Amino acid sequence: MKIAVAGTGYVGLVAGVCFAEMGHQVVCVDIDEKKVEVMKSGVSPIYEEGLQDLMRKNYAAGRIDYTTDYASAYKDADAVFLGVGTPELPDGSADLSYIATAARQVAENVEKDSLVVVKSTVPVGTNDKVDQFIQDFLVHDVHVEVASNPEFLAQGSAVYDTLHAERVIIGTETAWAEDRLKAIYEPFNLPIVSVNRRSAEMIKYASNDFLALKISYMNDIANLCELVGADIQDVAEGMSYDERIGSKFLNAGIGFGGSCFPKDTKALDYLADQNGYELQTVKAAIGVNTKQKTALFRKASNRLITFSGLKVAVLGLTFKPGTDDLREAPSLDNVPLLLSKGADIYAYDPVGADNFAKLYPEGPNDRGSITYVNDVEEALKDANVCFIFTEWGEVKAIQPEQFNELMRTPLVFDGRNIHPIEEMENSGVEYHSIGRKTVK
Ligand code: NAD
Repeated sequence: MKIAVAGTGYVGLVAGVCFAEMGHQVVCVDIDEKKVEVMKSGVSPIYEEGLQDLMRKNYAAGRIDYTTDYASAYKDADAVFLGVGTPELPDGSADLSYIATAARQVAENVEKDSLVVVKSTVPVGTNDKVDQFIQDFLVHDVHVEVASNPEFLAQGSAVYDTLHAERVIIGTETAWAEDRLKAIYEPFNLPIVSVNRRSAEMIKYASNDFLALKISYMNDIANLCELVGADIQDVAEGMSYDERIGSKFLNAGIGFGGSCFPKDTKALDYLADQNGYELQTVKAAIGVNTKQKTALFRKASNRLITFSGLKVAVLGLTFKPGTDDLREAPSLDNVPLLLSKGADIYAYDPVGADNFAKLYPEGPNDRGSITYVNDVEEALKDANVCFIFTEWGEVKAIQPEQFNELMRTPLVFDGRNIHPIEEMENSGVEYHSIGRKTVK
């Protein structure tokens, strides 16, 4: 089938490339000319394992192309997937302006019967509005329907998640739309759950917010563990054998970040408010997470007299390993706090440093300074204190004796509970983590 994809971010580009891999004829549209140029040259604008190889393979096979010329891309597409951003507005609601623009661009240019598929995460009821909006702006006498197909990929394993999705949710209102969307996914050979549009939209929020809740619950319990002398990792392990609970998303840490959980919890809370309902569980998750993001900084502030004049190693800047995405990363909460207290930060991240440097350029900043280094050793060398924000492989691989040998004072605040407590005991490192005892 001929498929156009609007938006070449983590969702749109990965979807487009995977559709091409499955034999569809794909054109990816973005308004960002630079991005399109980069993609045409065979380079992925985002870091995702396996993505660039598939881009090159399918481009060479003539199954995928990239363009800013949306008019020609949408003109004769059998389906147009909308994968543009739906970021958070200051009031917590989802910004639907990118969706509206893309929908209008489709309506004004489509010359053939087509299915518009909303892949972006959108509040319940948005598909209905997009449908009406498109009918209002249609120029040619063609049949266009709208379907919901929320995305569940996780950054860091986006290609794998798409090709091996645990389920594909499709939300449609007619058999015509359902059949067309099923036909697109047929070559993937994945379980399909077919529901109406509003349920599909809700499945996405309910799933993300459930995971956010699970993380916040474990962080809440971790904070209590610290106060009562229990160990959150032992607690999580003990819980994980219960199949009703499962073993995933039980890791305590410095809170969830990324482009989805923070905004999707707030958007569902907003939707509930708008409907006169108080979504107490999700509200609680948002509250716990906000506080959790600076839990390590508070611990370190209680331990030290000052950060002024101290060399502070920061290991990891992205919101999780395997991605260059910084959106809502805990580093963005902690680095400015450290700088405001006069810290001289030496930051290491294998792929996120360039993006971070756009926000915090190297050099003096506030009352401190920031320097980007090329490896963990350089960051740790002569440091007075170390913060771990992202569990990259090379950060996990640090041995306790390296903290001892490299740092001026081996004082470590680990926001990802990377190191087993037993390993840190008697190592000479003062080691603070989340929900576990402090080792001195
Ligand atoms: P992103 O910000 O990385 O990418 C959006 C892209 O859309 C940008 O490249 C932008 O230039 C482009 N764009 C904006 N307006 C356009 C237009 N009119 N036509 C064509 N392109 C246009 O976004 P993302 O992280 O890929 O997320 C997209 C959506 O998918 C969001 O709703 C998000 O909540 C949802 N989602 C994201 C993830 C994730 O892990 N990132 C997972 C599941 C769902």
